[in-house]
Amino acid sequence: MKKYSLLLLFLITVSILAPSVNATPSTFSKKRDYYEQRGDIVWEVPTPKKVIALTFDDGPHQESTTKILDLLKKHNAKATFFVVGNRVEKHPEIVKRQFEEGHEIGNHSYSHPSFERINGSLIATELTKTQEVIYKTIGEKPTLFRPPGGSYNESIVQFGKSSGLLMILWSWHQDTLDWKKPGVDKIVNKVLKNAHNGDIVLMHDFVLNSSQTYDALEIILPELKKRGYSFVTVSELLSFRQQTKSYIKAN
Ligand SMILES: [Zn+2]
Repeated sequence: MKKYSLLLLFLITVSILAPSVNATPSTFSKKRDYYEQRGDIVWEVPTPKKVIALTFDDGPHQESTTKILDLLKKHNAKATFFVVGNRVEKHPEIVKRQFEEGHEIGNHSYSHPSFERINGSLIATELTKTQEVIYKTIGEKPTLFRPPGGSYNESIVQFGKSSGLLMILWSWHQDTLDWKKPGVDKIVNKVLKNAHNGDIVLMHDFVLNSSQTYDALEIILPELKKRGYSFVTVSELLSFRQQTKSYIKAN
């Protein structure tokens, strides 16, 4: 009997704890509401326009970023590249090309550490150093940043603000997980089945030994264009933001 009651206790405990393990969106939903309402972090942009912002993290990379740029050009699509500062130093010509072809450059830190694991002054250094590197490369400083891994808390928001940067994450239904190399079909389905106005899609222009992102884009770009979507930078997307209820009330 004792064995059974222990087993029962174990099962009850597991069933209570289990939802919190898998419920990432609901676990963070309070935090999301708080930061989203204050306008401190953007996950997506409610808009009546048929526009989507493709975002690419972790580049630039000599081959894979170049291939993606060629494809975007072919489909007249604009995107936002959240670049890593020390990679910009290695491939400044690619970032120049991104900028010249109308894409937006965002700050994705200098050396890609987890911002939750480093102290405030290191976060500030990661952001400002990258701002400087990008300024030296294209003559403009980014206005957007995405912390590595998408981790956020009050101090990350504040350090971003003090560097003149707005934090951009991504639509929860548009996390392609392309960095895990899940297969081209999975990436394609994730984007096509969930596409909505104002989505911010998370992809990576640099995934070691993988062309899945590129191969998926070859399918995604023409299909979404056929459905009437156009691809804009995140800053353009922000300019299409639908007036929210609270905004209307306040005015
Ligand atoms: Zn990253």
